Amino acid sequence: MNIILLGPPGAGKGTQAKMLVDKYGIPQISTGDILRANLKAQTPLGIEAKKYMDSGKLVPDEVVIGIIESRIKEDDCQKGYMLDGFPRTVAQAEALEQMLTQMSSGIDDVISIEVPNDELMGRLTGRRTCRNCGQGYHVMFDPPQKEGLCDKCGGELYQRDDDNEATVGNRLKVYADQTQPLIDYYQNKSLLRPIDGLGEIKEIFGRIGQVLG
Ligand code: AMP
Repeated sequence: MNIILLGPPGAGKGTQAKMLVDKYGIPQISTGDILRANLKAQTPLGIEAKKYMDSGKLVPDEVVIGIIESRIKEDDCQKGYMLDGFPRTVAQAEALEQMLTQMSSGIDDVISIEVPNDELMGRLTGRRTCRNCGQGYHVMFDPPQKEGLCDKCGGELYQRDDDNEATVGNRLKVYADQTQPLIDYYQNKSLLRPIDGLGEIKEIFGRIGQVLG
């Protein structure tokens, strides 16, 4: 089961991916998470990527394609995987297709989580994450019991550097310009499965489950 999760920043791809990992037992591969882990470890890749991430721009295609190529060859991906935040450009999608063809593999479904644009800014700027366990919150829609602290482990909550209003604006524009064309790309390959991304998290999870079976 090889799945792509497509959707604008703030559509809930990461949240749904984590729930799908539990249901289907396949790993979530998030290029954003991999880049942030590199940044935290201060690797040359992370330091280079930060310049792009902080301004809401895309990291160059060859960098993320290289990351994905080595990641999907790891043992835990043998039974399938979920790509979250990759591909983000047509060039990335074409490179993915080429590498999978060489591995006699392919993508089974592209889950496209649809959320109207005017909903996204508020969702993104209100996001908070636990520094310790990674649990996600939202200051308005899903606040922790004690402000700034994780309900699960008491860890400190932080806001992603790129979730401020200016950077979010750029990320949404970059999505419209460079990633939205992938909707047509996968529609033409009959792989696109549109999902209404409005409503309760569990409800949306149910819609995805219905499509994936
Ligand atoms: P995300 O966590 O998916 O929202 O990604 C955060 C940031 O990481 C993006 O704004 C980009 O700067 C970078 N990034 C993540 N995935 C990709 C990708 N597939 N192509 C280019 N840049 C990416």
